[in-house]
Amino acid sequence: MKYIGRFAPSPTGLLHIGSLLTAVASYADARFHSGKWLLRMEDLDPPREMQGAADNILFTLEKFGFEWDGEVAYQSQRHAFYRDALDDLRVRNLVYPCDCSRKDWHEKARLGADGFVYNGACANKNIFRQPEKSPAWRVRVPDEVIEFDDEIVGHYAQNLAHDIGDFVLLRADGFWAYQLAVVVDDAAQGITHIVRGQDLLVSTPRQIYLQRCLNAPTPHYAHLPLLTNKLGQKWSKQTRADAIDVNQAAAQLRQVMSYLNIPTAPDTNQPHDLLNWTVANWQMTRVPKSAICTQQQP
Ligand code: GLU
Repeated sequence: MKYIGRFAPSPTGLLHIGSLLTAVASYADARFHSGKWLLRMEDLDPPREMQGAADNILFTLEKFGFEWDGEVAYQSQRHAFYRDALDDLRVRNLVYPCDCSRKDWHEKARLGADGFVYNGACANKNIFRQPEKSPAWRVRVPDEVIEFDDEIVGHYAQNLAHDIGDFVLLRADGFWAYQLAVVVDDAAQGITHIVRGQDLLVSTPRQIYLQRCLNAPTPHYAHLPLLTNKLGQKWSKQTRADAIDVNQAAAQLRQVMSYLNIPTAPDTNQPHDLLNWTVANWQMTRVPKSAICTQQQP
C-alpha cells in the first residue's frame, strides 16, 4: 500500500502533550505501514505565531527521536500555490469576495457546526465590483451531505450549506485560511493518510469539498481522541498546557504510549527505541475513540 503521512504543527505555541500524541500516532501509523512521514510547518498566521516556536518544535521532535522524510515544508513559503488554487476556483465562479464585517453578519446569523453560518449576503453581488475595503474570499458550498468513514470515529457527515455556510479561503487581512492551505499542501505532497486530532473532524467535510473542487484525491482519515483537562477542555495554549520537556522525553513518550494503549515497553530511556517499540506494536483499533481526561499533565 502506498502511504504518505504527515505531522503539521502550527507554531502558535510550543508542542504540548496533545501535540505529542498526534506526532506519535501519525508517525507510528506511517512507519507501521512502511510509509513516509512528512513534516509541515503551518506558519500561516503570523499574528498568532510565537517567535522561535517553529525552530523549537523541530528541535523538540528531534530530541524525542522522530525522523521525518525529506525537507520540512513551510506554508509561509507556499503562498503562490494558494493563490493559484484560488484563481482556479475564481475562474469557475466557485468563490466570491465578501466585505461584510463580522459584526454585520454575526448579528443575524445562526450557530452551525463550527461557529456562525454565513448568510451568503455577498454571494450574488457582482464579482467585479470594487469592495470598499479589502475583501475576504469565500467558497460557495453545496446543499448536499458530505460524508466519510473515519478510521477511529466512524461515519461522519455534514451538510455544508446547513452546518457551515460559504467559508473563507482568503481572509480580509490578507492571510490564507487553514482550510485552503491544508488541502493544497496535502495534494501537493501526495498525502494519502491523515492522522490528526478530533478538534479537526469538524473541518474535514470542508476539506473534502475543496479536494473535489480542486480535483485532488481524498486521503484516508483517522481523527485521534483529544487529551483534556478535568473540565473537559482540550489541552492547548489557552488551557495553559505545559510545553513538553526534552529532558523528560522518555517519561512523556511512555505517558502518550499508555494513552494509545501500546503495551509497556522494555526498560529504556532512549526516545527512539520507545518510538520503534510503538511502531512495532501499533494497532489503530486500540486507540480510544473519545477524549482522554488527564488529571494533570505528566
Ligand atoms: N496545523 C494544525 C494544528 O496544529 C493541524 C492541521 C492538520 O493536521 O490538518 O492544529
